[in-house]
Amino acid sequence: MIRPTIPPSRFDVVVVGARCAGAATAMLLARAGHRVLMIDRGRYGTDTLSTHALMRGAVVQLHRWNVLPAVIAADTTPVRQATFFYGDESVSVPIAPRDGIEALYAPRRYVLDRLLVDAASAAGADIVYGVRIRGLQRSETGRVTGVVLEDESGRAHRVTSRVVVGADGLRSTVARLVNAPTYRVGKHASGTMYGHWSGLEVDGYGWYFVPGVSAAAIPTNAGQACVSISVPDREFARLFAHHPDRSFGELLAQVAPHLAEQVRLAGPSRLHGFPGHLGFFRHAYGPGWALVGDAGYFKDPLTAHGITDALRDAELLARAIDAGSDEALAEYQEQRDSASLELFEATDAIASFSWDLKSVRVLHEALAKAMSREVRLLASA
Ligand SMILES: Cc1cc2nc3c(=O)[nH]c(=O)nc-3n(C[C@H](O)[C@H](O)[C@H](O)COP(=O)(O)OP(=O)(O)OC[C@H]3O[C@@H](n4cnc5c(N)ncnc54)[C@H](O)[C@@H]3O)c2cc1C
Repeated sequence: MIRPTIPPSRFDVVVVGARCAGAATAMLLARAGHRVLMIDRGRYGTDTLSTHALMRGAVVQLHRWNVLPAVIAADTTPVRQATFFYGDESVSVPIAPRDGIEALYAPRRYVLDRLLVDAASAAGADIVYGVRIRGLQRSETGRVTGVVLEDESGRAHRVTSRVVVGADGLRSTVARLVNAPTYRVGKHASGTMYGHWSGLEVDGYGWYFVPGVSAAAIPTNAGQACVSISVPDREFARLFAHHPDRSFGELLAQVAPHLAEQVRLAGPSRLHGFPGHLGFFRHAYGPGWALVGDAGYFKDPLTAHGITDALRDAELLARAIDAGSDEALAEYQEQRDSASLELFEATDAIASFSWDLKSVRVLHEALAKAMSREVRLLASA
């Protein structure tokens, strides 16, 4: 349950970070009978800097975990096709009902993360917000044996656990505290600006490309759609530093003129910007610790796949922790990497923006193949 303060008990697992990666891991471990404490420095049911398109793999996971009915009940628009616009040409791909799902969904993060936290809570995990990790406890051999936490009043709490999971995002404190090595880094990054509008005629996911700019239209909750623009990271500050709303409208008109006109008519919306960050793989485990989600593996948001991968890896990690050996954690990292590498490389190539409309289609075909393999892996689990 969600508690106001840290309960004075021993835990099998402490999870740091209560969003898609952490909450899914905590839920699966609690369902497997482990005593789980999950903490987050933020607040329950809040938004975060992210668009929120889910690919088939993520929706299959939500279905398998029985969280999908609550996502649908939160007035989340079903997505029944994805259309790729390459300049003036378009290719529509219907979302076939299979793997137990009827459609895709793109819930806002304050919906998705909250529902996963609720599922972790219902499974018996203890969750405390407004708490940050300050340090680790270690045995004489250096094995991680717990955490030192700090609540909002500045009070320190020492909690022991068999495993500490860092699900604390791109700038993970747990990764820093365990000194997790980074062994692969992307070469390219894109910057993204996005907002939400009501009343747009958006039929499924729309992915738009012209040389140097891409855009997306993502239907979400309560009849709203998220519209985003992505550019090479080196262009982001120049384009958006001074008049972000004007630049957003002008760039959208270049890449998706019909959508730009609808957005203009719908009026202003608050924009959110992400200047870009190179993708990376971090070593994902060690004695008494593991990393999941963006904390261990980040790729450029341009292919909208971070949440899908986080939900996949939550399950791989929960299984490894349940198995209870360092060998199982090593296998977790191997599985994560072999399921991710193709997608990582194709994403990095798309984020380079050094493609023409023909070659970006080839990259999308490679992505689609990698995604199908991922879904087969999940659906057969
Ligand atoms: C602009 C943008 C657009 C994106 N669009 C998409 C998309 O359309 N589809 C998609 O699948 N993915 C998308 N992503 C990627 C997606 O947002 C991430 O992959 C996803 O959020 C990773 O989830 P996570 O749970 O690992 O980490 P996060 O969502 O980053 O959550 C980490 C949590 O850890 C907590 N935390 C951090 N440090 C501490 C600490 N020291 N102590 C306690 N708590 C701490 C934070 O408060 C936070 O709640 C996008 C990303 C960006 C930036």
